Amino acid sequence: MDNNSKAHFWFDVWTGKTPLKLYIPEDTWHDMPNKECTIQQAFSDPRSIHLQTALKFCPRHLLAQFLTTNDTKDTWIWCSTPNGQFSTKSVWSLLQPATSQKWSALWSPYIPLKWSILLWRMTLNSVPVDGTVKAKGVPLYSKCSCCPNPQEESVLHLFFRSNTANQVWADLSLLLQFNSMEVVTVADGVTSFLTHPELTTIARCLARCTFMVVLWEIWCSRNMARFQGQDMSAKHIINRTMLSICAISTSFKFQKMPHSWLTTLRQTRNGDQKLKVNIPTVVRWLTPPKGRLKLNVDGAFKKTSGEAGGGGILCDHKGNMCCAFAQAYHGLNSSLTAEALALRDGLLICCSRGVPEVLVETDSLNLL
Ligand SMILES: [Zn+2]
Repeated sequence: MDNNSKAHFWFDVWTGKTPLKLYIPEDTWHDMPNKECTIQQAFSDPRSIHLQTALKFCPRHLLAQFLTTNDTKDTWIWCSTPNGQFSTKSVWSLLQPATSQKWSALWSPYIPLKWSILLWRMTLNSVPVDGTVKAKGVPLYSKCSCCPNPQEESVLHLFFRSNTANQVWADLSLLLQFNSMEVVTVADGVTSFLTHPELTTIARCLARCTFMVVLWEIWCSRNMARFQGQDMSAKHIINRTMLSICAISTSFKFQKMPHSWLTTLRQTRNGDQKLKVNIPTVVRWLTPPKGRLKLNVDGAFKKTSGEAGGGGILCDHKGNMCCAFAQAYHGLNSSLTAEALALRDGLLICCSRGVPEVLVETDSLNLL
């Protein structure tokens, strides 16, 4: 079928099991010009009598695979959905690059945003471990916090090769069907785990969550080691991971949990630790009723540095700001005190402005 071939379109067996000539009715065959044409010639013009006649009388599948041109790059124009209809959705999915699947695997309603963001950063190689910072041109000596014999800290090392990571992944390898040593590059490793084809099964869903929490907990543990001098512990990482998975499976009432997961999670539940994981919830700010103002206050306290501060904003029923304040507090020892001072200062401002009726909102349940 290449340019030099002398094979005949009608007489040679080049597709199927017989020459194409046998499919053509006698009267049509009789009127056919240039019966000796080569395959090349027949295909050179899509409107050629040979190709058109063959398409009309020969089984379609014999020709279908050859009906492309070799000299231009093929591109999709539009594809119908399996039921034969054309929809904007089918165009949209057609235009998505092949990589888009990994994004949809990253974001999901039952996955806390912080896990998704960490993994997203991992695929972009923007998690600020020593190796990444160094690669950006910042000269520094690197000493990882994850191994008894410290090595240079890279993303691959911290999350998949280090002493701590090895212990964690080894412990979970059966549940996750995952071997950290098979990860060659971080981006590919993360993506290929997340886009595993059986993503829809419950076991796979749990595996995906677990994979994400493990990475998150390793990152938290590394930061605690780096900035607060606490040792990294594989056991601690696994415990926290399982508590998160318990909380997620409870919140979202996963049905028909596989046996292996039930056993693991039951062991975790029976431990005396409290479930604590932040599942994202949508919080909306509502305007106060007409004629009333709303005061939102917040305070914060950083234990490690002793810094504290608070602020507030006063708004009317249309959401317009009437006034706002922010200030630092000194010599505090708890965030509750900071919250309380912010509330006091907010109320003082209301009093000084002659606002006697005010709705107050705070996120501190203790203060409330
Ligand atoms: Zn290490």
